[in-house]
Amino acid sequence: MNKIIIIGAGIIGMLTARLLVKKGISVTIIEQGYAGKESSWAGGGIISPLYPWRYSDPVTRLAQWGQRHYPELLEEIRVNSGIDPEYIQSGLLYLDIEDELQQAIAWEKKHAYAFESVSGAALKTVEPGLDFSSVDTPQHGCLTSTIGQVRNPRLVRALREDLLQLGVIIEQQTQALSFITQGEQLKGVMTDKGSFYADQVVVAGGAWSARLLEQWLKAPKIAPVKGQMIVFKAKPGVVSRIVLSKGRYVIPRKDGRVVLGSTLEFNDFDKTTSEEVLQELKQEACRIIPALSDYPVEKQWAGLRPGSIDGVPYIGEHPELKNLYLNAGHFRNGVVIGLASCQLLVDQLLEQDAIVDPTPYLLTEQRLVNDSKDIDLSTAI
Ligand SMILES: Cc1cc2nc3c(=O)[nH]c(=O)nc-3n(C[C@H](O)[C@H](O)[C@H](O)COP(=O)(O)OP(=O)(O)OC[C@H]3O[C@@H](n4cnc5c(N)ncnc54)[C@H](O)[C@@H]3O)c2cc1C
Repeated sequence: MNKIIIIGAGIIGMLTARLLVKKGISVTIIEQGYAGKESSWAGGGIISPLYPWRYSDPVTRLAQWGQRHYPELLEEIRVNSGIDPEYIQSGLLYLDIEDELQQAIAWEKKHAYAFESVSGAALKTVEPGLDFSSVDTPQHGCLTSTIGQVRNPRLVRALREDLLQLGVIIEQQTQALSFITQGEQLKGVMTDKGSFYADQVVVAGGAWSARLLEQWLKAPKIAPVKGQMIVFKAKPGVVSRIVLSKGRYVIPRKDGRVVLGSTLEFNDFDKTTSEEVLQELKQEACRIIPALSDYPVEKQWAGLRPGSIDGVPYIGEHPELKNLYLNAGHFRNGVVIGLASCQLLVDQLLEQDAIVDPTPYLLTEQRLVNDSKDIDLSTAI
């Protein structure tokens, strides 16, 4: 039986492991911290890119595949693990997109999405929590009622539990340090807890992926991009939909809590939060849904997105080392595009028909050269 090691127990590592173990492969995940405690824990869980028309077709292709397959997978994980990832099809209401409306409509037609234009009384029905007394509140919006969301901390807990039941070994507090090679073939991974041998190794280390690779091999630019979030302890009904306005979004959870996100900060592996951002996010939340000012902020946190130049992840074998694979660089969309990216990688590992053309995602020499370390991510997205 084939043995595969996955470095990183975020959503990408864990979904990859699930697909492999279901095919009878023996899988060990090596995780430097605890499973599902980094970016995949911190995110908003929206199963859509925020402004999907701003992304290239390769991102859209993965997102659409994921949107089709998530409901069934999430139900399977819920039943197997006994933990509810709280998938809800809450829909997403876009506000303040007048400047991009033509682009959005053209994109919607090309990709067969259902955008519904809403204004006046209809807007009130779609999201009663908006501030209809303010002249600044937009009178028009665009609704995609099929967009769903998951609650990240529950999703990663459910996934971890599910994997343990399926027989995946998760070595936590074990850091991958280097690769064990024989000629140009990979044989395993050297960690701070000793050597692990396998037929193939997948690096799914999120924002840390390039840092591990670049010590030994060429690596594309994958760098941490911090996002700070807050959650209000509100009651059910205060917000009905995911509402996106001027780059900020509110996400209503099943129990009434409302998440507000998020910042884009380019300051290395620092995960600290600040009072200044807390105040700014609170203000933004109350601008979108004024009633949130009646509820306390329960928590503030930050996560590190695996930033890449255009948000197109690297999925495939490393050109310099046989049997070493990468699945990383999902940037702001690791949940929505992650499922398809993991299936695409597994298709390559098992040499089976690919769900979509793998070419745009491959880790080619050309991408390694073009997506160089010197590119400033804050200007490249
Ligand atoms: C604030 C915020 C909001 C977001 N909102 C959304 C959203 O609404 N929708 C969406 O689709 N996406 C969203 N994202 C993005 C999404 O969360 C990420 O793209 C996704 O979680 C990346 O998953 P990952 O598994 O690659 O990374 P991670 O979850 O960071 O996992 C990588 C793991 O690898 C481990 N690791 C790294 N190096 C090593 C090593 N050398 N040895 C052992 N272990 C190692 C790390 O400890 C970590 O646990 C958001 C992200 C943030 C931060």
